[in-house]
Amino acid sequence: MIATVRSATILGARGHPVSVEVHVAKGIPGFTMLGLPDESCREARDRVRAAIVTCGYTWPDKKITVNLAPPVYRKTGSGLDLAIAVGLLVAFEVIPFDAVRELAFCGELGLDGSIRRVPGVAPMVGVHADGDWVVPADAVNEARVVGRGVIRPVARLDRLVEALTGAASWPEHDDTSGVVWVEPELHDMADVRGQPHARLALEVAAAGGHHLLFVGPPGAGKTMLARRLPNLLPDLDPAVALETTMIHSASGAALPRAGLVTRPPFRSPHHTSSSGSLVGGGSHALRPGEISMAHGGVLFLDEMGQFHATVLDALREAVEEGRIMVGRVEHDRVPMPARFQLIGATNPCPCGGGGMPGACDCDERSRARYIGRLSGPLLDRFDLRVAVARPEVDELFGGEPGESTAQIAPRVATARRVALERSGSLNAALDDNGLNEFAPLTKGASELLRREVERGRLTARGLQRIRRVSRTLADLDGQPDAIDEMFAISALGMRARIGLSAVGRAA
Ligand SMILES: [Zn+2]
Repeated sequence: MIATVRSATILGARGHPVSVEVHVAKGIPGFTMLGLPDESCREARDRVRAAIVTCGYTWPDKKITVNLAPPVYRKTGSGLDLAIAVGLLVAFEVIPFDAVRELAFCGELGLDGSIRRVPGVAPMVGVHADGDWVVPADAVNEARVVGRGVIRPVARLDRLVEALTGAASWPEHDDTSGVVWVEPELHDMADVRGQPHARLALEVAAAGGHHLLFVGPPGAGKTMLARRLPNLLPDLDPAVALETTMIHSASGAALPRAGLVTRPPFRSPHHTSSSGSLVGGGSHALRPGEISMAHGGVLFLDEMGQFHATVLDALREAVEEGRIMVGRVEHDRVPMPARFQLIGATNPCPCGGGGMPGACDCDERSRARYIGRLSGPLLDRFDLRVAVARPEVDELFGGEPGESTAQIAPRVATARRVALERSGSLNAALDDNGLNEFAPLTKGASELLRREVERGRLTARGLQRIRRVSRTLADLDGQPDAIDEMFAISALGMRARIGLSAVGRAA
């Protein structure tokens, strides 16, 4: 008896179709799995057998072969458990084949017959998006984001068999209790005391999509500031929301109750995290790392120079390409989306004094080595480099609270809309041609920047960055035409020197 059941597996954040073929024949009793199952997928044999027996079905003394087709890619994890169990029960003549012909299945089986969520239900369902699926009850939200057919949430194998044999109707309940989604806190700009320069930089970063580097000593509030960027950003557009949902599903992270990730994520991994958890990969499934989890949102790297060189390389790749390649072996490498806004933070030097006479006791060499860890090509990607100082005591205890996120976000939304309508992209994506076309300078601004270049205070790349930032400043001010001197001066002020003369010149 041969039974075939539809399912899927994931590689990275992408699903691939799998056809589970079950063959049961007379012979020496045994259970063989073919078709490149990885270790955890191979363990399905024991889980499936236990679940079937616990639910009260007979396990025949026969030779059982399960083939996971096609054999060209590795099948990872436990997501095929349910399809294998259903295939076996068809082959055992417990479930009629006609009942499963039009269905696909995914989910892990517990030894007690429970059907559990696995990482990647959304990309798996996407493989047969028009088909009907049986999914773990606690993954129904993400399945429904992707699936256009009927999605059947089922929590137990015996309940599934009852439904498939017509002994009972399909379970109705939407149990989303598996991994609990925690609504992200609203980090409000009104909580930031003082720091007018850093506040403006955040607003500009949000409006223009510019990467932003904070340079300042510990305690200057760099993390507090960075956390406030996502709430200044608009909702994700539908295509990005779907990609982000796929990545978060593939990681096994909790998803919002409605399934779709609609708000820009914020990720702030520590530099001591393993490069696997930052870049992605792993020995079983190729799980998304923090760099991909930030897709559509904000990646904040505090003490950026302290991250491992392989992480900084992957970061540069992501910033340039909007994706990274994940996986160790060449033929196993898969692309993973990773387009995010980067906020880096660094001390100006090992001691935090930033080379200021009297405040810094680092020599030039150790300062150079410290900043040198951030490679030139990566530093080049930061349109905004802003010095932040520890707030003054007066600012902490008195003073007016600054504008709130609710006051700033509409300005950001308007500026983004203006940019998108004008050039089809945010200002951070403007290259030389785009700048000439969409960010012309007035005579005054042009002469001012020309003098900076002539005096060696601005490189060609630096000039590009200044022009992009001035475009955003002018947009925020409701001035969509040629950029005048005032905005150029303001942009020049958002270009901190980084505690090292050589880098300062290159900036
Ligand atoms: Zn120092």
